[in-house]
Amino acid sequence: MFKKIINLLSKAENFILPESCLNCRRPGPALCPACRAQIQKIPALCPACGRAQSLGLFCLNCRQTHQTVSFDGIFAYAYPSDSIMSKAIRVLKYQGAKSLGRSLGKMLGRRLAIAWTQAPEAIKQREVIIIPIPLHPRRQRARGFNQSQLIATGVSKTTGWLINEGLKRKSWRQPKASSSFRHEIFAYSGELLTGKNIILVDDTFATGTTAQAAAQALKTAGADTILVAVLSQSL
Ligand SMILES: [Zn+2]
Ligand SMILES: [Zn+2]
Repeated sequence: MFKKIINLLSKAENFILPESCLNCRRPGPALCPACRAQIQKIPALCPACGRAQSLGLFCLNCRQTHQTVSFDGIFAYAYPSDSIMSKAIRVLKYQGAKSLGRSLGKMLGRRLAIAWTQAPEAIKQREVIIIPIPLHPRRQRARGFNQSQLIATGVSKTTGWLINEGLKRKSWRQPKASSSFRHEIFAYSGELLTGKNIILVDDTFATGTTAQAAAQALKTAGADTILVAVLSQSL
């Protein structure tokens, strides 16, 4: 009950307070164009050796030496050291700024759409599906939203690729629990993914444990190329 009241209050606050930029406080959108332009963007690089590589796919050499990795590349928007993007992700996750989530997704989508024109032909010929990294249903109920889903909505709006919600999360750990151990289990049920490109959307890429577990489930379902698309990536 108490949680419900807090939720209602935070919704009301979103509704009543005029929007201003989370970085410079200028009235207007949650992230103003001037602050957006200051975000330090990561160029597309092979995730293993760091050489320039279209879409952030593994280069041929690293693909050979990283065969146990189930995803094929990481397309990230900003460096983790970028303070504006880090702030934006915090506001999105912990204050539930839903419209911010969608607009960050649109920024990621626009950059991805441009990069896609340079993608290898074999990849460009296949259908593309966007899959957000799901939260465990219990975590989603507690939080009231899934930030990856909001980002995915923005990516879908700018690229025209459709969102598929067939990926489900089975494991769950209390936030800030004393044990840092978490067993990531994902399961996919839905349309066949054979021969399709997947854009696996999450807010950040840190250790890669989540992306790897999710990509594994999607590869089992037949997915072809899996590109992890995130707002921020640790290198
Ligand atoms: Zn600003
Ligand atoms: Zn490489």
